[in-house]
Amino acid sequence: MTDALLRSAFSLPEGIIYLDGNSLGALPKVAAARVQRCLMEEWGERLIRGWNDSGWIDLASGVGDKIAKLIGAPPGSVIAGDGTSVNLFKALNAALDMAAKRETILSDIGNFPTDLYIAQGVAQRRSGLSLKTVEPDKVADALSDDVAVLMLTQVDYRTGRLHDMAALSEAAHELGIVTVWDLAHSAGALPVDLMAARADFAVGCGYKYLNGGPGAPGFIFVHPEHQAKIRPALSGWFGHEAPFAFDPDYRPAEGAERMKVGTPPILSLAALDAALDLWEEVTIDEARAHSIRITSVFIEAVEAACADFGVRLASPRNAKRRGSQVSFRHEEGYAVVQAMIEQGVIGDFRSPDIMRFGFAPLYNSSDEATEAASVMARVLSDRLWDEPRFRTRAKVT
Ligand SMILES: *Cc1c(COP(=O)(O)O)cnc(C)c1O
Repeated sequence: MTDALLRSAFSLPEGIIYLDGNSLGALPKVAAARVQRCLMEEWGERLIRGWNDSGWIDLASGVGDKIAKLIGAPPGSVIAGDGTSVNLFKALNAALDMAAKRETILSDIGNFPTDLYIAQGVAQRRSGLSLKTVEPDKVADALSDDVAVLMLTQVDYRTGRLHDMAALSEAAHELGIVTVWDLAHSAGALPVDLMAARADFAVGCGYKYLNGGPGAPGFIFVHPEHQAKIRPALSGWFGHEAPFAFDPDYRPAEGAERMKVGTPPILSLAALDAALDLWEEVTIDEARAHSIRITSVFIEAVEAACADFGVRLASPRNAKRRGSQVSFRHEEGYAVVQAMIEQGVIGDFRSPDIMRFGFAPLYNSSDEATEAASVMARVLSDRLWDEPRFRTRAKVT
């Protein structure tokens, strides 16, 4: 018997321990059924009528409201659609428009590269602005009245280290700094309370712990106090007050709706919408408790079996300070992960030496954590990783 919370709701291959749901969540059975229906009945039969009759026109907001419940956001404040990178562009521009004229976007050097790249691009288009990065544990010290926007990812994609969102937001606000939080590795992994933390903007990902499928739409949150004030940088017709008035002049929609841009990807939104219904059966607090249990089992088992082979914990040992992934460093990390995949344990690798294992509380179990650790031990003790084919890096690691 598995102790995973909703294992049977997922379509997972036999004989595989899947520990990469932080990169691409597994397929919920309801999502497969829903996409099939969306294709054959909605698109196939209703054609253009699907926009009204199947509710496609309201899907981005409906999905946003389901995500809102998981991240402590009120209804109407979260819009699904567009990827995390694009949503970050929208959020940063809106935040900078609101912020005092200052010189810096502050982030941490461990932030996911696309976040840093988008910030660099945004800064280049605004005179006198640049991106500054500091070590993750130096962020609080680097807050100053030069900083316009603090842009952080709550859970570090390499190590799983969790920033203290409430404390950093409070410190930022005291200095008049606007906050933009990336919840890519938070949403669906742990409770987030954006309103309690007084986050100004947030973005996140639909295909990781929310199980929306490859390239699923992400989301953007705008604090209710800001919604009526912001000028969208991407002022598309779906964010217009009346898209089907076909008015030649842009007027932003009410509230966070204005963050919509163009026609949303309905098939992808349908998959994400169905996947989110799984959260009617478990609470995010239950998911967090289970995640802490299984990641702790994994750390203990790996350290007991693999410490002699040069494996070192890269994630915080204190479960309260990490997300739902566990990372270990090893100098042959890439080859070790490839050999583990061949043995049926799917994790991934992040440069330079991080072996990363995401534990999705909805479908991973403590037995899988124990078994994955013993596979790692076998790969290391028998040097199964030591083959040229495990050293050839694929395009996606
Ligand atoms: C996964 C991830 C992304 C992905 O961005 P896309 O636009 O969906 O490719 C962005 N930021 C962070 C922090 C991530 O973890």
